[in-house]
Amino acid sequence: MSQTTEQIQKSDIGDILENSLNGQRPDPEGCMRLLESDDVHLMGLVSGHLTRRRFGKKASFVNNIILNYTNVCITDCKFCAFYRSPGDDDSYTLTLDQIEARVKTSWDMFNIRQVLIQGGHNPNLKVEYYEDAFRMIREKFPKVGVHGLSTSEIDMIARVEKSSTKEILFRLKEAGLQSVPGAGAEILVDSVKDVISPKKISSSDWIRIMDEAHSLGLPASATMMYGHVENKQDIVDHFFKIVKLQEKTRGFMAFIPWNFEPNNTLMNEEGLVGYGTGGTQLLKMIAISRLVFDGLIPHIQSSWLTNGVGMAQLALQYGADDFGGTLIGEEVVSCTGARSTELTDKIITDAIHQIGYQVEERDNFYNPILVS
Ligand code: SF4
Repeated sequence: MSQTTEQIQKSDIGDILENSLNGQRPDPEGCMRLLESDDVHLMGLVSGHLTRRRFGKKASFVNNIILNYTNVCITDCKFCAFYRSPGDDDSYTLTLDQIEARVKTSWDMFNIRQVLIQGGHNPNLKVEYYEDAFRMIREKFPKVGVHGLSTSEIDMIARVEKSSTKEILFRLKEAGLQSVPGAGAEILVDSVKDVISPKKISSSDWIRIMDEAHSLGLPASATMMYGHVENKQDIVDHFFKIVKLQEKTRGFMAFIPWNFEPNNTLMNEEGLVGYGTGGTQLLKMIAISRLVFDGLIPHIQSSWLTNGVGMAQLALQYGADDFGGTLIGEEVVSCTGARSTELTDKIITDAIHQIGYQVEERDNFYNPILVS
């Protein structure tokens, strides 16, 4: 790091990076200075170094599918190209048999270790629909982890059942839910949510439901969807709301920053966002995520879905330690046309080996299954 040390000393974010190397994470003001800086590659050198210090030259991934069980939704987010209104000709809801068939095929063909279950806010689905699905998966495919339902889907089920979100989480956990994905956070600032998803739960509800999940022993991921109407202060606020909850609960296993893809969305139609933010911004967000969460949230994911395998390889050198999942069957991002490719474990393994790293196939809880 000697040449890097010199670069750090000359940089206007040098003090922040030096503190990071000494185990002191940036505060909100430092985070703002990182966002304002153009020294992306220097940030990446330091965040990559911190990552290798924790994980060595190794990156993990999970063999998984996304089960988008329904596209029926009454929440009409402006950034979403996936949803359909109840009664639309091309709306769908998978039956229990269809869910079983998809999981079975994926288990037989790909040896998946996780089903990531996400769908629209469908007012016709009772909690038993989810309980039956989770119970079936855990009983018939015990090695497949159930990682399911965003906080806003949990809120929808609570409203359908006229129950509390904590009670719904408790019932779903009893039925086999094992962890909660971070979707629905977008940017945890209500003035942003009021523009992009005015009918979705508020930022404080997202935090509260995650807090409830953690208190019930359900670990989770946290996400950030950037690159739309948010400003830098909103991003700082987002990061530090997650920091605050994590300092209390330690319930987040991973953080996943991903960029908004405008194609086929209302936000694109209304002229709010014309194009995605691209690769350099992804690397900056990955690097800042590692610096902000180092030692607090263990894993940062590469966000390959919208940025492709090549960018994911760079992300692994800029602070990500987990490639993410194979995400077979994903439909939400695919509706924007931005899905970069269909991935298999072979493509991911090759991509990680190409950068000289070992590959760790993992399970739903980031436990290693196989190292190559
Ligand atoms: S993002 Fe989710 S909640 Fe929003 S419209 Fe799409 S399916 Fe519905």
